[in-house]
Amino acid sequence: MIAPIFELSLEQLVADIKKGQISAKSVMNAVYQNIEKHNASLNVFRSLLDKSRALAWAESIDAKVKNGESLGRLAGIPVTIKDNICILDTELKTTCGSKILENFHAPYHATVVEKLIKEDALVIGKTNMDEFAMGSSTENSAYAATRNPWDLERVPGGSSGAAAVSIAARMALLALGSDTGGSIRQPASMCGVTGIKPTYGVVSRYGLVAYGSSLDQIGCFAKSAEDCALGLSVIQGYDERDSTSAQVNYEEGLSEIDLSQLKFCLPLEYIDEKVADAEVIASVKELVSLLKKSGATIEERSLPLTQHLVPTYYILAFAEASSNLGRFDGIRYGSRKQNGDTLESLYKTSRSSGFGTEVKRRIMLGTFVLSAGYYDQYYGKAGKVRKMIENEVESLFTEFDFIIGPVSPFPAFKLGEKTEDPLLMYLADIYSVLANLTRTPAISIPTKLSASGLPIGTQLIGRKFQDAYLLSTAVAIQKLTDYHKVRAPQFKG
Ligand code: GLN
Repeated sequence: MIAPIFELSLEQLVADIKKGQISAKSVMNAVYQNIEKHNASLNVFRSLLDKSRALAWAESIDAKVKNGESLGRLAGIPVTIKDNICILDTELKTTCGSKILENFHAPYHATVVEKLIKEDALVIGKTNMDEFAMGSSTENSAYAATRNPWDLERVPGGSSGAAAVSIAARMALLALGSDTGGSIRQPASMCGVTGIKPTYGVVSRYGLVAYGSSLDQIGCFAKSAEDCALGLSVIQGYDERDSTSAQVNYEEGLSEIDLSQLKFCLPLEYIDEKVADAEVIASVKELVSLLKKSGATIEERSLPLTQHLVPTYYILAFAEASSNLGRFDGIRYGSRKQNGDTLESLYKTSRSSGFGTEVKRRIMLGTFVLSAGYYDQYYGKAGKVRKMIENEVESLFTEFDFIIGPVSPFPAFKLGEKTEDPLLMYLADIYSVLANLTRTPAISIPTKLSASGLPIGTQLIGRKFQDAYLLSTAVAIQKLTDYHKVRAPQFKG
């Protein structure tokens, strides 16, 4: 007997599709059934393929199987793409969750989309997000918030909240998101799925609408680390169209990990009850004791620069954002609105009506920290602190294999709970921005349910370019914990 579709690993499912034992069409029908049932209450998609077109695409995979044609590594797998990743399609737009790109159809595929399609993945839709990836709850989307399947009154995290939900509610089996300061790991943690931000440069940013270019990285969400590993192996690789793309040999495939050989660093600042909820700390500690039982070494260390992470990140991210978003002026990009007959009024009206409050706040603060007279005091200084943090982390990695700790200081919070105070929202990123500032790979894996039944993830941060090792270790840990198999009660379809 064949196990239900959603219980198979991606690799097994693709193998069964290629053997003709499971049809790609039945997989597509299963995900569309979940979409039809739950998209209205969860608000996952910004645009979605018409069902008949998605089914026809799946049938074309089944026809190739029948004809004995060779197929790619993601044959027949429904995938969602965050709405800041370009796709050339008549139905699928690239709005970045913003009004300014309300009707934007990208004129080309992002490299990651090309790579997915080449491996016969079926890209079915674009997922909702905080406007221009700025936020931690998906509430900054100009098109209404996405809701958390574990509790509809709560946020799914952000900015790739809907990408995480598309996996949690099985509306797809692989989802691409972007992570500038935690936007893959934090929603993965809040929705009980697995999410990886790769090493900076491992995945091409060509076709990703830029937020903070020195921090942005595309990565994936799936129901397990094993599935994420297959997704990442498909989308990674050097790309001459991205000048920051890394020329490294990515090790394909997962390796067997002996947990007793590993050394983890647990930063004391990461388990500080003044910052994180007791349940979040308990989740990390429970995993730590499981790891100890398996023979791993865990050492607590102070990481004094932790207090500077959030300010450093936000100064750099705002500065880069203010520069990157200059292109949305109603002429080069963005819908044009005119009120008066000067060029300046065109810029002003287009940008004032096109951008939401949070984006405007960041453009203004970013412009300020870059301005003459303040550059050295803010942007220049933040760059120096980033270097100090990078050095500190590099030296930790001469002693340790991984840094372990929480992803977010709290489980999913209520809609509206933090919208009034942007600083409270920014503090949600305290544990996630380290990996972006240091360009290291980091993964969030589900490790606990809170007393009120909300998922909590634990984060592992690895050495640069050791993404495959990080994933292999996460796979070994998921064999111990099994929390990745726990599903949101009403969304088990
Ligand atoms: N929450 C962070 C921010 O608002 C991170 C967002 C992201 O990773 N795109 O900048």
